[in-house]
Amino acid sequence: MLAILAILALIFLTNQSSRLLSFIAATPRAMFSRAFKQLVQDSILTVPFWIAIAITLTLQTLAPAQREQKLFSRGLAEDGVWFVYEAVLQSIIIVTYVDLLARLYGKYASFLTVTSLNQPPGWLRFLIAILLVDFLYWVQHYLHHKIPFLWKLHSLHHSQTELNFFTDFRYHVLEYIVRHTVLIIPLLIFKIDVPVIAAVAITQRWYSRFYHGNIRTNLGPLKYFLVTPQSHRIHHSIEPQHADQNFGAIFSIWDYLLGTASTDRKSYPQTGIADAGFPHRTSGRISEILLAPLRQMAYPFRSRSSSR
Ligand SMILES: [Zn+2]
Ligand SMILES: [Zn+2]
Repeated sequence: MLAILAILALIFLTNQSSRLLSFIAATPRAMFSRAFKQLVQDSILTVPFWIAIAITLTLQTLAPAQREQKLFSRGLAEDGVWFVYEAVLQSIIIVTYVDLLARLYGKYASFLTVTSLNQPPGWLRFLIAILLVDFLYWVQHYLHHKIPFLWKLHSLHHSQTELNFFTDFRYHVLEYIVRHTVLIIPLLIFKIDVPVIAAVAITQRWYSRFYHGNIRTNLGPLKYFLVTPQSHRIHHSIEPQHADQNFGAIFSIWDYLLGTASTDRKSYPQTGIADAGFPHRTSGRISEILLAPLRQMAYPFRSRSSSR
């Protein structure tokens, strides 16, 4: 019986992986042009991108969280490289993976689909979707802190000592895979419309770029409802007393409801991770700036330490 199951699993995996490989082999130019399009047309050439950068840099000048951090800092240069890498990873690996996940769901698990969330008016569907996605984002973020191997992946994001607008692009490719698995399957089950998912994703992405900035604000009473530059800096804090707090992506309500909200709503600590073995960039040479992210991608597989 086990042998039959193993053979069936092998046939299934071979079938899927050969399909995936032929898809990848057939369309390398299409995927690279998609990466270029995402980077240039969807980011660099859009007005919101430059407005968001201008607002973040202005706020960083007027009210910096860390005064000694330069406007065009070492961290900004590092994460600018991650910004380019992320466009490539998203366009080639993540889009392919999500597409495969959706096909597999459609073929083998579509009986799980619930259509009732498609009935309400558009604004209510957006509200339901943003709450659902934000909660799922909280769940996968929590898992990335609590499961040792996932923490090694996620520690790349936390290793930045100079938080900035582009730090939200600094993620291990396997973290994207885990994150999209947690996010996509419930969205397929509840049959959330693709335009609604896109609107939620854009909202979340722009907002998280803002609160990764070196900005000194906790947004006053809004902090009980929204993630803020101060609350997310606590999440990135190198201080042990701040560990594993403030997991929210847009809303802080999940942290208050689930007991992970920090009581420190005022301080702006240094950020980073405690592991001295993390392969930080060692010089300002262009080759080093370009290669450091690749060494950091290998870090979870060679690091014996997962200390925070
Ligand atoms: Zn985190
Ligand atoms: Zn962050």
